[in-house]
Amino acid sequence: MNPFPDVLPPSPGAAAVRLEPRLLAADPGAGLAGHLETFGPLDPDVAAPGLLAVLEASGLTGRGGAAFETWRKATATARSVRKGLLAARPVVIANGAEGEPLSFKDKTLLADAPHLVIDGLLAVTKALAGSRMYLYVPAVSIPGVQRALLEHPGARRIEVVEAPETFISGESSAVVNMIATGSALPLDQSRRLSESGLNGRPTLVVNVETLAQVALIARFGAAWFREAGTAADPGTRLVSVSGPTPARGLVLEVPGGAKLADVLGAAGMDPASVSAVLVGGYHGRWVRTGSQLLSPAGPASRMVRPGAGVIHALGRDTCGVEATARILTYLAGESARQCGPCMFGLPAMAAVLNRIAARDRDPRLLAELDRLGKLVTGRGACRHPDGTTGLVSSALEVFADDVRAHLTGRCIGPGGMAA
Ligand code: SF4
Repeated sequence: MNPFPDVLPPSPGAAAVRLEPRLLAADPGAGLAGHLETFGPLDPDVAAPGLLAVLEASGLTGRGGAAFETWRKATATARSVRKGLLAARPVVIANGAEGEPLSFKDKTLLADAPHLVIDGLLAVTKALAGSRMYLYVPAVSIPGVQRALLEHPGARRIEVVEAPETFISGESSAVVNMIATGSALPLDQSRRLSESGLNGRPTLVVNVETLAQVALIARFGAAWFREAGTAADPGTRLVSVSGPTPARGLVLEVPGGAKLADVLGAAGMDPASVSAVLVGGYHGRWVRTGSQLLSPAGPASRMVRPGAGVIHALGRDTCGVEATARILTYLAGESARQCGPCMFGLPAMAAVLNRIAARDRDPRLLAELDRLGKLVTGRGACRHPDGTTGLVSSALEVFADDVRAHLTGRCIGPGGMAA
């Protein structure tokens, strides 16, 4: 069950907030004409092998969560092709799966700027001399994407595949498995997709926002890209922001290294009115709002990794222990049930945390949670167990006082009052 059923995605057609308008510079729904009017045409010569060097100079990192350097990931695929046979031309997949319930930035991008995503997919595929292209998107995005493909030059060969609305459907090997077999379950991670992915071909799976950034860099260059953001985190990123207010989630385009408090302020929230913020989504971490910068790199004391750009603020009337217990219950239910430690360990962890949330006074519960966390960490075929235990660790740190209170049968609760 969705842990935050009150959080609604942005209304269809709602304008995203453009703090640093780049990806979202064109009017939503403007179509190809509006896209070309805003961004200009993409020079096909840029989308040649030289594109990878431009991407390296730009410092672009993936916007799907892991924040790998985009040029390095693409180069690994290109290298596999050089080592292989001509028949093994690579496959490029634009990954728009967004199973994380608090994330809506990729759906917004696909609705408002699908031509940038398509440009990026075409450019990367050309740079890698790829043979096949896929757009892997949720059902809600398919009609708009198909309309854009019909009017976009050179896009007829792009195949659209529906991404299921499950939490792990966007994991790279699950994406490949879904396209190959119709089952969005992660595959054995010992097999590198860059060497042997879809149908044994070198395969590059890239987040749709990353591809839209590629489309801009291919047009305007690496130096232009670096004019926004910081040296460690250049460019802009889309973030999905939700919390006690506003009632509906928002998508914002913010510069790299933006202050977390500024992002909350831009979304209409007073940072002083929230008790904690979940950054990076359900595989992210809880933080107290302070002077943190949203950036994938830098000292842990000052930076908080944005992951896939999910930011959820917890109101002072919501208990962080109970909220984390709800998320953990949801994540345990989203296990693909392929690996024992994940299949059995996460529900066991959820049961213990729910007992703490329900103010069970058993003093052994914390040690048991710790023991189970150690048992599941590093034991899955995908990052699901590790992402989940990371979230729980951050909750035990940030809500330490609340956990202690629960274990004595109390909840510090709304506004810090014992209840
Ligand atoms: S770790 Fe969990 S979610 Fe990942 S493949 Fe194994 S069972 Fe599935």
